[in-house]
Amino acid sequence: MRIARFTTGDDPAYGLVDGAGEKIAEITGDPLYTKIELTGTTHLVEDVRLLAPVIPRSKVIGIGKNYADHAAEMGGQVPAEPLMFLIPNTAVVGPGDPVVIPEQTGEVHYEGELAVVIGRMCKDVEPEDAAKVIFGYTCANDVTARDLQRSDGQWARAKGFDTFCPLGPWIETDLDPADLSLVTRRDGDVVQDGTTADLVFGVAELISYASRAFTLLPGDVILTGTPAGVGPVVAGQRVEVEIEDLGVLANPFVAP
Ligand code: MG
Repeated sequence: MRIARFTTGDDPAYGLVDGAGEKIAEITGDPLYTKIELTGTTHLVEDVRLLAPVIPRSKVIGIGKNYADHAAEMGGQVPAEPLMFLIPNTAVVGPGDPVVIPEQTGEVHYEGELAVVIGRMCKDVEPEDAAKVIFGYTCANDVTARDLQRSDGQWARAKGFDTFCPLGPWIETDLDPADLSLVTRRDGDVVQDGTTADLVFGVAELISYASRAFTLLPGDVILTGTPAGVGPVVAGQRVEVEIEDLGVLANPFVAP
């Protein structure tokens, strides 16, 4: 299933998107917490505004340097254990929403990533049980103020500015993350062309590792890291993150 969150001008609602990505069938509640039941109302996707498919209840967990080619381009090696950081949920925006480049930075980078949405509260998950706590997957752009990442040491500000965590366009619940093409485009030009087959630590390992530190709650999101090809994006440009069998997350970047 592809589960989207959307608005037609009223309160946000959830719906199931068809395979062509053209129609959305409204459902009654938040599918993280309630059984999926159709309301009977259907919309054209082009007639609604898609929103971030999930607002993380407590946290977005980022994973750094989880592709060897990206670790190399950053001048390092892959870490011996997953390198975790936290992004506040206030950074999350949806498909099409503008990413606002703040005045404090002169070097903002895109990072196309596969995001995992957690479906239920869990702690100390074994890798072999990770599938049971996954709600689904979506595309993410782990937008980073690269200059502040270097100067701050801690990454909270560099990756946590408002609007720096676009998610979408929807959550795909039936997806094997083992080998998915991940392509990022800046103004239409391909700038990242990777595959999730190259993840150093896979989805199950990441969930297990994170859950040994933090209780994971329904709606929490784990960003699995970015492949090589990160680079600058400036106001007026548009970045698209496309993941095979999932969809395209596109966001314009704007000045404050
Ligand atoms: Mg990243």
